[in-house]
Amino acid sequence: MQDAKPYTTWVEISRSAYYQNIQAFRRLIRPTVELAAVVKANAYGHGWHLIAHLAKESGVDSFAVHSLEEAMALREAGFQENILIMSQPLRAYLEEVVRGRFRQVVYDVDFTRALSDAGMRHQQTVPIHLKIETGTNRQGIAIEELPEFLQTLRSLPGLVVEGVYTHFANIEDTTDPSFAMAQLQRFQQAVDLIHQHGFQPTKLHTACSAAILLFPQTHFNMVRLGISQYGLWPSRETFISFNHQHRDNGRHLLRPVLSWKTRVVQIKTVPAGQCIGYGCTFQVSRSSRIAVLPVGYADGYDRRLSNQSYVLIKGRRAPVRGRVCMNLTMVDVTDIPGVQVEDEVVLLGTQGNESISAEQLASFIGTIPYEVVTRINWSLPRILVK
Ligand SMILES: *Cc1c(COP(=O)(O)O)cnc(C)c1O
Repeated sequence: MQDAKPYTTWVEISRSAYYQNIQAFRRLIRPTVELAAVVKANAYGHGWHLIAHLAKESGVDSFAVHSLEEAMALREAGFQENILIMSQPLRAYLEEVVRGRFRQVVYDVDFTRALSDAGMRHQQTVPIHLKIETGTNRQGIAIEELPEFLQTLRSLPGLVVEGVYTHFANIEDTTDPSFAMAQLQRFQQAVDLIHQHGFQPTKLHTACSAAILLFPQTHFNMVRLGISQYGLWPSRETFISFNHQHRDNGRHLLRPVLSWKTRVVQIKTVPAGQCIGYGCTFQVSRSSRIAVLPVGYADGYDRRLSNQSYVLIKGRRAPVRGRVCMNLTMVDVTDIPGVQVEDEVVLLGTQGNESISAEQLASFIGTIPYEVVTRINWSLPRILVK
């Protein structure tokens, strides 16, 4: 366990919380289902390198990332597991896809041709995963275009159709599964077509966190676990639905992996009637003790948290006063006796009996926990704790 002391602002990653979450998901899926950890966007802001190590230690089978760059970073760091790249890289870099032995998503015919050429040049077979458009209208091959796509694919050497997948549009933000189930049906149609054309993909996958949690019929033989490996629920609706299905067992299923901390750098007394920060948006109505924190919107502490959120000091809530600055934030500690410079402050996480969650911060600023954690500045230190 490293010592957090040398830092003024840092992120702690809990090994035991991560392990607990992975174990929970192992119990939710059948033993033969491949568990892929989605570690795109710096592992949702948690720090890809640390998380990849924890994932490996806790028995995750493979990784999924957004970009070729992320995949290459994992390989260069020594990870030998399968890595699925979920976007199509620039064609100039396809050699790297081949060299890295990555699983590559395809949804575009010209791209697929170019990848076949790259595979041939290296005398290697590239494992591809066909992305099927089932209603999200993001990436994917439309079912109507699929027969022609498959026809072309049959003539392309250097590729093997290892996987077929799709992604749900609204499986987390509703308690009504009908749209997701229609998507699942279209996916099944696509898989049938693919079989009819003589392909035998070994990996069928549709499930993100919410689908893994709520719909076993979406698991097939691989799942793509993102947000909930980090101990966060995809949404309130997912949490509610899960508790309906599992007799309220959701509360203890997941543990947030990330805490975000900083330290008091200055304490001052502000006389009654004076204002705090840019724009003078907060006026103190009494003589107040204000603590200055070395963290701001450049660090990912969103400016919309101004006069909205609170931090934890000595296990108590200290409200944010005035606007969040680029690198500084002011909080009111008048009612928290004994606060001193260098005291530890929790921006996100637990201190004593108090907590402030990613969900809470997200609700203050009208977004989702995904955005809150991924936007914690990636250059802040990530430290592993028990
Ligand atoms: C990000 C992503 C996931 C993971 O989703 P979570 O809701 O975070 O579990 C799965 N599949 C695809 C295609 C993604 O882009």
